Amino acid sequence: MLRAGRWGRALRPRGGAGGGGGGAGGTGRRVSGLLGDLGKELSKMGKTLRENLPSRSWDPLGRQENLPPEQADVVVVGGGVMGWSVAYWLKALEGRRSGMRVVVVERDPTYARASSVLSIGGIRQQFSLPENIRMSRFSAFFLRTVNYNPSGYLFLASEQGAGALEENVRVQRDEGAQVSLLSPAQLKEKFPWINADDVALASYGLENEGWFDPWSLLNAFRRKAMSMGVYSCVGEVKSFVTSLGNATLSKGQPHPISRIRYVNVYMPGSREYQPVSCAIVINAAGAWSGKLADIASAGTGPPGSEQHVPLPVEPRKRFVYVWHCPNGPGLDCPLLVDCSGAYFRREGIGGNYLGGVSPAEEDEPDAGDLEVDHDFFQDKVWPKLAHRVPVFASLKVKSAWAGYYDYNTFDQNAVLGPHPRVENLIVAAGFSGHGLQHAPAAGRAVAELVVKGRFESIDLRRFSFDRILAGEPARETNII
Ligand SMILES: Cc1cc2nc3c(=O)[nH]c(=O)nc-3n(C[C@H](O)[C@H](O)[C@H](O)COP(=O)(O)OP(=O)(O)OC[C@H]3O[C@@H](n4cnc5c(N)ncnc54)[C@H](O)[C@@H]3O)c2cc1C
Repeated sequence: MLRAGRWGRALRPRGGAGGGGGGAGGTGRRVSGLLGDLGKELSKMGKTLRENLPSRSWDPLGRQENLPPEQADVVVVGGGVMGWSVAYWLKALEGRRSGMRVVVVERDPTYARASSVLSIGGIRQQFSLPENIRMSRFSAFFLRTVNYNPSGYLFLASEQGAGALEENVRVQRDEGAQVSLLSPAQLKEKFPWINADDVALASYGLENEGWFDPWSLLNAFRRKAMSMGVYSCVGEVKSFVTSLGNATLSKGQPHPISRIRYVNVYMPGSREYQPVSCAIVINAAGAWSGKLADIASAGTGPPGSEQHVPLPVEPRKRFVYVWHCPNGPGLDCPLLVDCSGAYFRREGIGGNYLGGVSPAEEDEPDAGDLEVDHDFFQDKVWPKLAHRVPVFASLKVKSAWAGYYDYNTFDQNAVLGPHPRVENLIVAAGFSGHGLQHAPAAGRAVAELVVKGRFESIDLRRFSFDRILAGEPARETNII
């Protein structure tokens, strides 16, 4: 790029600006005067050039390194933790080296709005569905290398919720999870800073729970996958080229089904796109995966029609607040999930904590931006925290952020597997707040589907898209 300032400096004679210094006499002054003029001219030329170029970021050589190839076996849309996990596992499971060309397309390499980097990085065994517990158990094993901070989750239940909590712990123990049940007295003895007055029962994870650095996990998958030959490309998938056909349902009636031929990858800041012909597309677009599925299945029927099967995943804004409380619970603070739904955990060792609460359905904030609602903390979070941990009455909020849950409105669980109307589109989305910890297991599961044609390590058929068509939710009750 032509930089006028740099040229001007390089052409200026040593010994001072202008024609004065150096003692070279008249010739020196004339030469330096000429050079000064040349510098000014070049500076002007550079300015004119810059003003007339199509855009300030115009690069005559093009950004070849980010262009996708024209052909791929698998295109993964979304380069968050899920997309890169799928890509890594595809390479790890491919039968022979370089047997599969995998491309990951991510529209925003800064990840400014990606859930992966805005999450709080928690992992727990305490779910209500065996499939989620199994995924967490695999991930815990996998995550030990990623700056992992072991610490149990502590779920509190009121009289009303105690039965469900006990049942969940039974399922967790059946799956091999180490979880203890605590009476209010035991709870008070272990965590004296808790107000246990309205707690009937608590469950506390003894292993494979804690938190880790989300960015490290995302990068670990990304860098390893790239070292194994996965293409990384910056661009947005805004359209597909599909071909239409008909399939016959078991009841005999035909229904339209399509196949993606090309994924159109739009280059950043441009109307140009690169069509990538491919065999399989993975929808790992996180909170935007519902939107992407709509684009892909558009040919099978317009939204709202009987033929159209929407993927019920949408962005839901969640706030995380960080506060300081020097005489708070301290080092043995677990990740506490209150009967009210509020949660918090320690953040580092300097008396800082972070937490929040999911809003009630009718209070869902506008998901159009990632602005933080500070009143929400005052009105909905702080009173719950101060009730459960009286010393939090004197906390001081230090900072806050917002991120999107990849929220499955149908049953708050993952959708994993083929799209019912687009035969070569595989969905890996809808984790509703637990996708980070499940990325290692879910990525492996999707890669198994692609490479082996079925789930091999963990049977995740319960999370298939078909349940949505059948209207049979696989509801996870332990959603935070
Ligand atoms: C506040 C908060 C706390 C959380 N806490 C936890 C937790 O403790 N534990 C846990 O397990 N999970 C947690 N989660 C959930 C977890 O972060 C998500 O489930 C997970 O990160 C989803 O990963 P992803 O890769 O699918 O989505 P993302 O990280 O959002 O990645 C999707 C990517 O797709 C890209 N994309 C979208 N559309 C297109 C397109 N058309 N073309 C190209 N690129 C596209 C986006 O730019 C984005 O980078 C939390 C989430 C939030 C918001």
